[in-house]
Amino acid sequence: MKICFVTSECVPYVKTGGLADVSGSLPVALSKLNVEVKIFLPLYELIDRKKYNLALEKELSGVKVNIGGIDYEYNVYSCIHLHSNVKVYFIECNELYSGDSVYTTGETESTRFILFQNAVLMTLQRLQWSPDIFHCNDWQSALIPSMLKITFKWDRLFENSRSLISIHNIGYQGVFPKDTIKKTSFPESMLVLGGPFEFNGYFSFLKAGIVYADIITTVSKTYAREIQTPEFGSGLDGVIKSRSDNVIGILNGIDYDVWHPSVDNYISSKYSSVNLEDKKKNKINLLEKCNLLGRDDYPLFTIISRLAWQKGFELLFPFLDEFLEKEISLVVLGTGEKQYEDFFIDLQKKHKEKVFCYIGYNNELSHQITAGGDFFIMPSRYEPCGLNQMYSLLYGNIPIVRKTGGLADTVIDISNENGNGFVFNEFEPESLLEKMNSALELYSDKEKLNEIRKRGMNLDFSWNKSAKEYLEVYNKLKSL
Ligand code: ADP
Repeated sequence: MKICFVTSECVPYVKTGGLADVSGSLPVALSKLNVEVKIFLPLYELIDRKKYNLALEKELSGVKVNIGGIDYEYNVYSCIHLHSNVKVYFIECNELYSGDSVYTTGETESTRFILFQNAVLMTLQRLQWSPDIFHCNDWQSALIPSMLKITFKWDRLFENSRSLISIHNIGYQGVFPKDTIKKTSFPESMLVLGGPFEFNGYFSFLKAGIVYADIITTVSKTYAREIQTPEFGSGLDGVIKSRSDNVIGILNGIDYDVWHPSVDNYISSKYSSVNLEDKKKNKINLLEKCNLLGRDDYPLFTIISRLAWQKGFELLFPFLDEFLEKEISLVVLGTGEKQYEDFFIDLQKKHKEKVFCYIGYNNELSHQITAGGDFFIMPSRYEPCGLNQMYSLLYGNIPIVRKTGGLADTVIDISNENGNGFVFNEFEPESLLEKMNSALELYSDKEKLNEIRKRGMNLDFSWNKSAKEYLEVYNKLKSL
């Protein structure tokens, strides 16, 4: 089985969110199942070429391509991915991928990913490598399925290739002015109202992916159902529903070499469900680091998140200030929209001895918070899969989540026999508050607390399990 995995971000080279974690781990897990995988990624200027030993692929480089009347030239670099036999190809085009951010809002944003997708297919032509499956991810590679069926249809190299698009977050669709079609080689007549590329009068990358891909996957079973409804479909629910028989949910896995309390090098004391006492040392260490001295015996609530609308933190606005009158502590790590950052900064000012808030991105601290915390708050409006609640379960940092997407598929309320956390349904402050109060109750019953922790810590979220599910889908597609 040969897979061409096309992505706009990938750990360890470049990351803005969960897609990077998936792209870094799934190909390695697949290669362990004897799948041959090649990853393709744009070579953003912010990727450290030296650190990852990127080497120029001379024979694949210096290729000219015209996008919307402008000539560009790209080069291809490569490296071997994380001690595996997966090869990563990086598309270099300095005019388009310079600067210090992965995504841009400029006029060239569509050009950046149109060039990227052309370069992927043109590189494969030069390599004469014919994938069984193109595994595309989100809008940045969503045109490949249509390119295979329209622009590159003539090439017998791709005659038997099938395509799959994974939707990691339907909120991001790659919607651009309708003129964008001129940057592609699709006939302009295909932009008709209601056609595969048209969305509310604009050109949509993701819609084309949904229409043309042979199969659509998303990152949890619940999200696969939700995106077929107006509430969660961000306008594409109808299109997805029309392909309902080809929509599959597969939960993301976790890289246990990086995210497991028994091997985590970022935390002060490694631990597992059989030596839970050592978890407490991480709490003490974290509180010390956060200047929250003398609070070791009080419950510690934690938050690690992009501070975006999707994550639903305004549910805390009406009551958290008052809730902090109780004997608790709170550690927040996040960055994003100002209203959320200001809210947490103000809380810290007001409750200095109880609240620590780090505005920014800090990987090491995120591990330490996950290990040191007692409860993890994730009240998302929607959550395609979510990784943090899974990390938290594995580290005994009991999650408090809203019943949506991947949160609904991984966290079970403790009112059930096999409960491992707190789950609320309504997107209302009172519903979250009720669960935070239940968490305080649980904290006072140490035996039950540890029992619930252990249930989460013993779950299997390994990539091995999810990779097998992907392989099943690939096999099904290959036999079409
Ligand atoms: P999303 O992809 O929507 O941001 P996920 O839960 O799927 O949410 O994945 C988020 C990833 O980013 C996790 O690996 C999480 O630990 C990490 N993360 C988010 N915010 C921060 C931050 N401020 N500092 C460090 N890591 C963060």
